[in-house]
Amino acid sequence: MPDSPKNEGPRNQNREIGLASEARSKERKAMIQTIEASPDEIYDIELEHSLLEANAKLAKENRALLDRHGVTAIDVMGAIGSGKTTLITRLVGRLKDQYGVAVFNGDATTSNDADLIASQSVPVVQIATVNGCHLDANLVGKALRKTSLDNLRLLFIENIGNLICPAEFPLGSKARVVVVSVTEGPYMVRKHPHMFLGAQLVVINKIDLAEAMGVSVSDLTQDVHRLKPDLAVIPTSCKTGAGLDEVTAAMLAV
Ligand code: MG
Repeated sequence: MPDSPKNEGPRNQNREIGLASEARSKERKAMIQTIEASPDEIYDIELEHSLLEANAKLAKENRALLDRHGVTAIDVMGAIGSGKTTLITRLVGRLKDQYGVAVFNGDATTSNDADLIASQSVPVVQIATVNGCHLDANLVGKALRKTSLDNLRLLFIENIGNLICPAEFPLGSKARVVVVSVTEGPYMVRKHPHMFLGAQLVVINKIDLAEAMGVSVSDLTQDVHRLKPDLAVIPTSCKTGAGLDEVTAAMLAV
């Protein structure tokens, strides 16, 4: 039964209100863009989360094993060419006659670094990650099972040359050292804050080349202290020997 004329007014009003509301709703929807994660993406996030958790658990196990044997492991991180291998070789040379020293050498493909360190007649385990861009606690655990920990005092672990990925993967070391060299330019510290925030010592290497490179060691040091004011920084040159006494003492103090 049709409405009486006296009811038309409110009915039209209601229809107009309804149309206006629908238009506003369409306008709002036009402002919103929606992206939808594929099941694979969600799976990746979950996998990464559990991967980091699993790594952290294995790192604790490595640390417990090292502690039981009184071994101090030092994770040496830094970019390719920063001088990690040379620094470790110099430290090993200074320490090996007084203390039991071993080295794990992470290398994606070659054994050049492991060969160099082994020439110091200390035990070396080369950890070939193939295409992996960082060491992880599982690989270090495997290397530990290949190493006689009795009579060891220090274990240097040379990580893969990379200033990003290793930060996420603790290995069970007691301290993490970042080696950055002046030949990498003036911005290496500020470009990789995460790496430095997780470190206990920063070595600024190749200072004999600072002037030629036009890179200021004090500016790099300031960059470190802007990130973490109490982080120890030691400038070194493995060529001239500058700073190596301090780094050696710092390693024994860990
Ligand atoms: Mg190396």
